[in-house]
Amino acid sequence: MIYFDNAATTYPKPRSVPCAVYASFRRYGANPGRAGHDLSLATAEQVYFCRKALAEMFGAPDADHVVFTLNCTYALNMAIKGLISPGDHVVTSELEHNAVMRPLEELRRRGKITYTKARVHIGNPAATVAEFERAIRPETRLIVCTHVSNVFGVVLPVEQIGALAARRGLCFVVDCAQSAGVLPVDLKRLRADCLCMPGHKGLYGPMGTGVLICSGARPMRTIIEGGTGSLSKSLDQPDLLPDRFEGGTINVPGIAGLRAGAAFVRATGVEEIHRHEEAVAGEIYAGLSEMKGIKLYTPAPRAGIIAPVFSFNVDGLGSEQTAALLNQAGIAVRAGLHCAPCAHRAFHTLETGTVRVSPGAFNTQRDASRLIKSVFQIAKSRK
Ligand code: PLP
Repeated sequence: MIYFDNAATTYPKPRSVPCAVYASFRRYGANPGRAGHDLSLATAEQVYFCRKALAEMFGAPDADHVVFTLNCTYALNMAIKGLISPGDHVVTSELEHNAVMRPLEELRRRGKITYTKARVHIGNPAATVAEFERAIRPETRLIVCTHVSNVFGVVLPVEQIGALAARRGLCFVVDCAQSAGVLPVDLKRLRADCLCMPGHKGLYGPMGTGVLICSGARPMRTIIEGGTGSLSKSLDQPDLLPDRFEGGTINVPGIAGLRAGAAFVRATGVEEIHRHEEAVAGEIYAGLSEMKGIKLYTPAPRAGIIAPVFSFNVDGLGSEQTAALLNQAGIAVRAGLHCAPCAHRAFHTLETGTVRVSPGAFNTQRDASRLIKSVFQIAKSRK
């Protein structure tokens, strides 16, 4: 099967990833941070190596500021709910995934907060930042936004939005689900309080891994409390990182795999991965843009404006039907709303959904040609 659904989770993973997971069962089978025996210490050391690598990759003050979560959704919930208080107002974008929108909407429905969605102007960072600035109110406490739209690939000017948040004294949380491992992401450069990312997408780790990177500059409440193996006499959740946000046993095999995935990304180079994915996505985009009966929604993937993930539809066919026909042709793409109804509303595709193409590090130009050919046949059969 040719896999073009890397925005959901990357596949395949580098061989080193399942090998590291297997090794963790064989060599690091104890619970880290819960005992003083050698096996527990060896396991804790392996977990620390992963934290350290991620801290270096994403500009965290040190390894302790890297918190392991179940996925990006958990990291976002922890950041959003940890930073805001009742009565606060939040500014977000119109292109958010439900991992941001549902926590905000739930808090709004309970009467705890209000929020405003800022418009995003493709390729015009100044206009986008002006929309965010216009949305700020006296009671605004937090700006939370995605770095890259998971449906349309639109890149948000997060560095400028971070500068705006800093200027106005606001908390800033970035959803790096589609950018971590594909675009440069740096906590300090973005002046962010928290970066939230999955381990299982552009970092090539196993599913069930996610990362919350905290600056530690502001107090953050917890949404999960429990055993950490530290300060056990106290019934209060410890203040020290990462324990504060890691109640309960962590996913050691997943973290071992994530360490190998992150090592693959560092060895290959984020720039090189981006260059490769953009070349593959660009070829597909160019092929589709020459076909009659194909609707594309954005400009072609281009550094800083559109990341290597884009959407299309075939005239007269539902997105799910197109994806089913591609599946029959041995090609995996995702159709529908991609958990981002707000983004679809902004692009007027809420009723139809879209077919999403998201290449990864292992896709080839040959895969791209196969997809173009298959879409051509599908479109031709509609005429
Ligand atoms: N944010 C964006 C932009 C995403 O694309 C996704 C997943 O597709 C998420 C958040 C949620 O990620 P996870 O499935 O790891 O919770």
